[in-house]
Amino acid sequence: MKALDELTFDNRFARLGDAFSTHVLPEPLDEPRLVVASKAAMALLDLDPAVAETPVFAELFGGHKLWAEAEPRAMVYSGHQFGGYTPQLGDGRGLLLGEVYNEAGEHWDLHLKGAGMTPYSRMGDGRAVLRSSIREFLASEALHALGIPTSRALCVIGSSTPVWREKQERGAMVLRLAHSHIRFGHFEYFYYTKKPEQQAELAEHVLNLHYPECREQPEPYLAMFREIVERNAEMIAKWQAYGFCHGVMNTDNMSILGITFDFGPFAFLDDFDAHFICNHSDHEGRYSFSNQVPIGQWNLSALAQALTPFISVDALKEALGLYLPLYQAHYLDLMRRRLGLTTAEDADQQLVERLLKLMQNSGVDYTLFLRHLGDEPAALAVARLRDDFVNLAGFDAWAEQYKARVARDGDYTQEQRRERMHAVNPLYILRNYLAQNAIAAAESGDYSEVRRLHEVLTRPFEEQAGMEQYAQRPPDWGKHLEISCSS
Ligand code: AMP
Ligand code: MG
Repeated sequence: MKALDELTFDNRFARLGDAFSTHVLPEPLDEPRLVVASKAAMALLDLDPAVAETPVFAELFGGHKLWAEAEPRAMVYSGHQFGGYTPQLGDGRGLLLGEVYNEAGEHWDLHLKGAGMTPYSRMGDGRAVLRSSIREFLASEALHALGIPTSRALCVIGSSTPVWREKQERGAMVLRLAHSHIRFGHFEYFYYTKKPEQQAELAEHVLNLHYPECREQPEPYLAMFREIVERNAEMIAKWQAYGFCHGVMNTDNMSILGITFDFGPFAFLDDFDAHFICNHSDHEGRYSFSNQVPIGQWNLSALAQALTPFISVDALKEALGLYLPLYQAHYLDLMRRRLGLTTAEDADQQLVERLLKLMQNSGVDYTLFLRHLGDEPAALAVARLRDDFVNLAGFDAWAEQYKARVARDGDYTQEQRRERMHAVNPLYILRNYLAQNAIAAAESGDYSEVRRLHEVLTRPFEEQAGMEQYAQRPPDWGKHLEISCSS
């Protein structure tokens, strides 16, 4: 276990130099205070969890203090936003403080979001509000607990610093951890500004540090791109299987590591709704729930375009062609497991699609339906869940198909079935209204609800005593909350 001053830095991205990032010091928050910390994320840095409660913790992650070995940098990147190219974005309010090695030899970027203005702030104030910082923190740690690849969050630091959005709010910072903060948009920036040498340097950096096994391949860059395609297909399959809607899948928010990244107006589905749009600025539904699948491929083709100096167009196209079949295989595999099936049949895809359509038409809670399907033997479970459906004849027909499928699947006890299904079907997810309750309390200075919700979400598959209120459908007020894009 380490104390805060015992972290070991090795700032590899900073060493790439000024063409890639700019030195900027964090702008401190007034009266910094700990809102919430993740013990699991602290363990990634070998940090003793007790240090979260010390004043120096809030000072470090509230921008007041800095390690001597840290080299805070704002990264430059660009990207496609809602389908159109924006030539220069970059870290407008976040700083890469440095890269830390843990005892297992893994390195973690420390990125402080909300750290003040940078050369890339454009019209922004460089700040993040408490509301959005809490949402990013909870989402990172909740997705991780569900087994979905994601950046992590170490802590949220609150303050008395006023920040103007639609109304006056308070500034906060979230300390984000990831093995890399390099986005698709980094490659796009050097491609569209026609800086081939720097682009090659960036590609070497990513290959050496993050895809070293691709070095062994005949065409290392192509192997790396393929791996990125595969990781994205798998990540998005998990989003779709668990009902996660990212909301702003611009290429500047897509990680080169295939992890969920940059949380804004995201949401988990309550009622199943394929057309759900969580970002209320997304008028055309470009990033609607079901569009995430083709958009994943669109984003990969934007990256492919930026890689044309290194890889032939034919090879890139072939690699892009892997995306959909891989996505479908991962998705179907997960959905089979969520339905409690251990074998594969051709008609399983149709079984899943029919169920989703029925849920869509009746506004059935996606997470709770699948959780409770495992509570009892299939015949009893479907009989109990039937009441949630409007189209009873449709549901009965599905239920017959499902029971027959379960009967063919294998010979196991209900105890085994429940255990297997509950291990993949969460009871607790980060519903928007739960986040909203925690945020409202935190905005009035009470952080206990954020901390409790975070604790519950770290063990989403385990029934937790006294936590029934987190495993309910949302109340009417909490159903279609509009999440502001301003964060
Ligand atoms: P996002 O939509 O959060 O991914 O941000 C898109 C771009 O806007 C990034 O370059 C951000 O750094 C920048 N940005 C977002 N909010 C702010 C802010 N309050 N101040 C400065 N830059 C911001
Ligand atoms: Mg972003």
